[in-house]
Amino acid sequence: MRVVIVGGGVMGCAAAVELAQRGVRDVVVLERAVAGAEASSAAAGMLAAQIESRDEQELATFVRARDAYGEWASALREATGIDIGHRRSGVLAVARSEGDLAAMKRAVEAQRAAGLRAELLDAAGAHAIEPELAPGLAGAAHYADEAQIDPPQLLRALVVAAAKAGVVMRGGTTVSTLLKEGGRCVGVGLDGRETLRADAVVLAAGSWSSLVPGVPDDLPRVRPVRGQLVMLEERPPRTSSIVFDGHAYVVPRGDGRILCGSTMEDVGHRREVTAAGVHGILGAAIAVVPRLAGAEMVRAWCNFRPSVAGASDGPLVGASPLPGLFLATGHHRNGILLAKTTATRVADAVLTS
Ligand SMILES: Cc1cc2nc3c(=O)[nH]c(=O)nc-3n(C[C@H](O)[C@H](O)[C@H](O)COP(=O)(O)OP(=O)(O)OC[C@H]3O[C@@H](n4cnc5c(N)ncnc54)[C@H](O)[C@@H]3O)c2cc1C
Repeated sequence: MRVVIVGGGVMGCAAAVELAQRGVRDVVVLERAVAGAEASSAAAGMLAAQIESRDEQELATFVRARDAYGEWASALREATGIDIGHRRSGVLAVARSEGDLAAMKRAVEAQRAAGLRAELLDAAGAHAIEPELAPGLAGAAHYADEAQIDPPQLLRALVVAAAKAGVVMRGGTTVSTLLKEGGRCVGVGLDGRETLRADAVVLAAGSWSSLVPGVPDDLPRVRPVRGQLVMLEERPPRTSSIVFDGHAYVVPRGDGRILCGSTMEDVGHRREVTAAGVHGILGAAIAVVPRLAGAEMVRAWCNFRPSVAGASDGPLVGASPLPGLFLATGHHRNGILLAKTTATRVADAVLTS
């Protein structure tokens, strides 16, 4: 059986590893640049299941994905020798007013009722966990089981694991069309010159998924939502928890690197780090952890979350309406979190088709 995967981001690479490890002999990943070139290496790497979920179903899905990561990280380390930086650093979501704190109290109670660790803290309690928080906060919600990984390390591990499992990774290879015959997807065309036939094609082209020629019109559209990130450095590290302040976040890696994010911008695929983006990100980060004003600014970058058109629409995963075509795309803000569970679902769908 040959499976061809369009896109070598976290979705394409994780699905390739899963399929190869489950016995598919001929797995080919086609990546127009290099594996992990786009959103997957650009991400902050939070496994923020309790913070990011919007309803009970998502909460259950996200928590399952987060809690499975420890085992995946160990398996990848064993297979490749690469440490993906999995750490249960916890999240502190700060409240700036009594009103914010009251809203957080409801969220914390709902999560505790679902059997999850969540705690409402007053300002003193929040500072006891993270002494560098700004003064004058009303309090915080603490989610001790939230975690993080280092995305570029994850992609390196997946590339090595894929090679060891026999996956063929073809970088610098753009898929120019999906091939269709008799109402079925039967392979792909490459740069208009070469065709590659396959028993199954997995679309994992991130925020470019809807732009791959031949993708059925009736699939929900995947559009880019730009996010900018700034990396600071402070050694020795003085913060350890991930801190959320509304939409802004600060993610200390534990080795002195601190990621600050992010923006949510509907600007197509414009690859720009903007003055306003960096200004807003750093302003919010310094407002919640003031000592970051003295940290060294290392670099800033942006990339594109693959977002499914309707606001409440989740990712596109598994079989598609076009036989032979499978989907692993549209994970928006949570593609790193959902990579392994998506790979499992895609492999299940391909192997039972
Ligand atoms: C700033 C930012 C912060 C984020 N933070 C987090 C976070 O903390 N936690 C989390 O879980 N998620 C986070 N995300 C989201 C996460 O990064 C994405 O959901 C995830 O990386 C999407 O993976 P992907 O493989 O679908 O897409 P991508 O990584 O974009 O990969 C798609 C690949 O397909 C290739 N491609 C496209 N078209 C073609 C073609 N025609 N032929 C061949 N190859 C093609 C591209 O070159 C690319 O390498 C963040 C995203 C951003 C932008």
